[in-house]
Formats: sequence, structure tokens, C-alpha cells
Amino acid sequence: VAQTVTNQALLTRQELQERVGRLPRVRIAHLPTPLEDAPRLREALGPNAPRIAVKREDLTGLAFGGNKVRHLEFRMGDIRAKGADTLIVTNVAQSNHARLHTAVAAKFGLTNYIIKIPSHKDTPVNGNLLLDHLLGARIVEAPSADQEVVATELERLVADLEAQGHVVYNVPNDPFSKFAGACAYLLAAIELLEQLDAAGMRADHIFLASGTSSAGLALAGKLLGAPYRVHAVSVGGDRASIAEYVMAAANGAAEHLGLPSRLSAGDFTVHDEYVGERYGIPTEAGLAAMRLAARTEGLILDPVYTAKSLSALVDQIHQRAIGRDETVVFIHTGGLPITFAYNEEIMHGLTAGT
Ligand SMILES: *Cc1c(COP(=O)(O)O)cnc(C)c1O
Repeated sequence: VAQTVTNQALLTRQELQERVGRLPRVRIAHLPTPLEDAPRLREALGPNAPRIAVKREDLTGLAFGGNKVRHLEFRMGDIRAKGADTLIVTNVAQSNHARLHTAVAAKFGLTNYIIKIPSHKDTPVNGNLLLDHLLGARIVEAPSADQEVVATELERLVADLEAQGHVVYNVPNDPFSKFAGACAYLLAAIELLEQLDAAGMRADHIFLASGTSSAGLALAGKLLGAPYRVHAVSVGGDRASIAEYVMAAANGAAEHLGLPSRLSAGDFTVHDEYVGERYGIPTEAGLAAMRLAARTEGLILDPVYTAKSLSALVDQIHQRAIGRDETVVFIHTGGLPITFAYNEEIMHGLTAGT
């Protein structure tokens, strides 16, 4: 069990809040999201399991919610500041990112285009893809999943729409867009710390699927001298590339906001041993974690992000990497519509397992 080193605070919570508060923002999310104790999950994990609390970022409100609703408050602020009327995202059929950009576009009277990357979940139309259609996305099928092909398709669509007089917000390439999520999760960290204080708790570890959200939480922890360690769980991609992505998001935000520190590789932990075959393919351990959360807490996870993340926490507890006297916050980052597009895998797991 690693010894906890409490860092020196470089900023107060209020100072950090003020820095982030200077960014343009549109209020969309239902905040604060609940922080719920999970005592039956803990009990099921055995006598050495730590206290576990779940931060319900699946309950942010818009179109089935998720962590990205927080990101979109800042991205929408930027979209408005730049005067865009059209958004473009590129992603696969079961993308939470595409679903929530379409929802926010609908809510603010903008048009969202999805350059849809082929995947094994294109048919039947279900889960996030069904919601994309319902929410009025304009879907352009990319001819292949090849990165260069998708990039070319994106360039061509941007050029076409601009030629028609639209002001386009290119979500994958906009410089602010890349770290909007990290900015949002600087504030989510403060929200979490205040909830922990109010409950008389202290978090030693935070587990979540890796990305810009984990970047914001880790950077906030460093700036505020918070005692927690962020465990960024890869759901696709190796340790080195995930670490680089998380640091780029954190440090993009740090630079943009003029913050007094940067995130280094040693400041957080990346787990890449729970990916399984690849992104979007459920693992046995993930499906088992889904059943466990459902049957102990009535908590529904998605098979692509949150199930694999919880399987990481379960395994770390079983390996005794986390002590029984510690407290873990598991961030439920959402993704719930994906669950319905994986009915066969989940049912297979149920008949094969318990
Ligand atoms: C997108 C996503 C993530 C991780 O990526 P971020 O950059 O932090 O958004 C994690 N969980 C879910 C459910 C997601 O949709």
C-alpha cells in the first residue's frame, strides 16, 4: 500500500474556482451530482475492501447524462464566443460524445454533424445511435475507420459548410475543445471535495475511465494539495499513450488558465491492464463488475467505460493495492445508452456467469 503524501496547496479552492470562472460557460448540467455510499458493494468485495462512494456523473441531466455534460458547459461557452452555428464531431455509432453534442446542439438551436466511423455496432440502430437520429443529428458515413480517411472527410465537410456561409465549430480540432473537459473537471474536483468534507470523509483514491475528466481531477488534486490519487483506467490504448493524452489535456487547461503547476506522469496512475481485446469489446471482468454493481447497489454501468473501470477497482482491491482503512471514490461517468446496444454480450455474460 503506497504511502499517502499530502502535497502542499498551490491554490485555494476559491482561487481555482475563480480562475475557471473566467471562462465562458453555459449552465446545462444538474449540479452537484450525488455522492452515494456503496456499502453492499464494499461488503461483496470482502473483508479487506475499502469504503467506496460513487460520484454519480451519470446523473448530469441532459439526454441520459454523463461526464461530458460538464464539458459541454464550457465547450458551448466557447462555441457561442466564436459565433458558430454548426458543430462537427467524428465518432462511432455508440459514442456518448456524439449523442451529447447532438443534444446540446438541439437545445441551443445549432446543427450537429456526426462523421460516423464504421464499427461493429452500426446495426441494429440502437443505444446512442438511435438517440443521435432522434435528436436530429446529420449523419455522414465515413467510408472507413482509417484515421486519414476520417480526417479528409472532416476537412471536406468543414470546407463545404463554410462555403455555404456557416460558422463551423470543428470539435476534434478546435484548440480549446481539446481541454474543455479538463477545465470542467477542475470544478468537479472542488464539488467532490466539498461533498467529502460535508460527509466527514477523505478520498484516498479516485477511479474512473481515463480521459480529460481524469486530467482535470488529477490536476486539481495537485493544485489544491488534495490527498487523493487519480487512477485513470484505460478502456482502449496503452499506458504511455493514455498518460500522454491525460497530461496534454491537463496541461492545455493549465496553460490556458495560467495555473501555477503542470501535471506530470508521476502525479496519477494509469491502468491499461483492464482493456481486454480492445476498445468497445466487453471483458468478462467488466461484465462481472456490471452484475455486481447492479445486484448490490441497483447501480447500472455501461459495458464500454464504467464496467471496465469498476473491474479495475475490484482487481486492485483483490490485489491488496488498496487498504481497508482507505476510501475510494468511483466516478460513474455515464454512457448508459451504450448498455442497450450490448444486449447480447450482457445476456451472454449472464448465462455464462451467474
Ligand atoms: C468519454 C467518456 C469517458 C472518458 O473521456 P473524457 O475525455 O473524460 O470524457 C469516460 N466515460 C464515459 C462514459 C465517457 O463517455
